[in-house]
Amino acid sequence: MRSNKYAGPCGECGSAVAAAAGQLIGLPGSWRTICLGCSPTPPPRRDHDGWHRTPLASLDFETTGIDPQTDRVLSYALLDDRGHDFAGLIDPGVAIPEASAAVHGLTAEALAGAPGPVDAIAEIVAWIQDLIERGIGLVVFNAAYDLTMLRAEADRWGLAQPDWERLFVVDPFVIDWGIERGGLGPRRLSDVAAYYGVLLDNAHDAVADARAARDIAYEIGMRHPTVAAGSLESLMLRQVVWFAGRAEDWNHYARKVGRSLDDPAGWPLARRDASIILSA
Ligand SMILES: [Zn+2]
Repeated sequence: MRSNKYAGPCGECGSAVAAAAGQLIGLPGSWRTICLGCSPTPPPRRDHDGWHRTPLASLDFETTGIDPQTDRVLSYALLDDRGHDFAGLIDPGVAIPEASAAVHGLTAEALAGAPGPVDAIAEIVAWIQDLIERGIGLVVFNAAYDLTMLRAEADRWGLAQPDWERLFVVDPFVIDWGIERGGLGPRRLSDVAAYYGVLLDNAHDAVADARAARDIAYEIGMRHPTVAAGSLESLMLRQVVWFAGRAEDWNHYARKVGRSLDDPAGWPLARRDASIILSA
């Protein structure tokens, strides 16, 4: 949940809420402040089977910016399904915008001496291909961003692509939208983590973010039996539909305020020729 920037009355009970003391909910363009007592909470954990009980891998990148077609991977976390965590830094060979470095702290100095992109990207691609061969689901929060960037990096460095059509992706950003229909306000990783009580004490560190994303996927599965039911394959199809719905809702708002549009067909990978940035 996102805290409110401005003071105002609670949209539910009317009590006064000081700036940053409450939370924002609602759809894009009509966010409203509510007090903590009126804040929605997730349903309780239940005991049912589902994809959340299968071992899942998780991936996260920190990058030079918000355009997955042109920006570069600076750090990566690959958490496999058997308890092994891999993490690494990449010297991208391009300038790192100050605004990006301010988010994750990865400056040119911090990356001096790190390997170049080719070997690291090849290693990440091989790691994903191994998940594909073994049928393991990969958790990626906002996969359309990270996976599109990985595909662009592999193209850039002349590397073979993983067999993307056979990859099972579990995207808590998209699933959360499918459950809440965007009604709970801005839902970036830290917002969804707070809502589900998932610890995220070092946001914008790739390992911490990848861990939180997988923990969120597990909490969603535990608390939403109908979402958890079914195979990873059927979850893929549902996420495609949810992503399209989210994009269409976003575009409805974006057209009114002149923001850039999302491609409803852009999950888990954007079209190669699509120019996309992170929305919401
Ligand atoms: Zn209230």
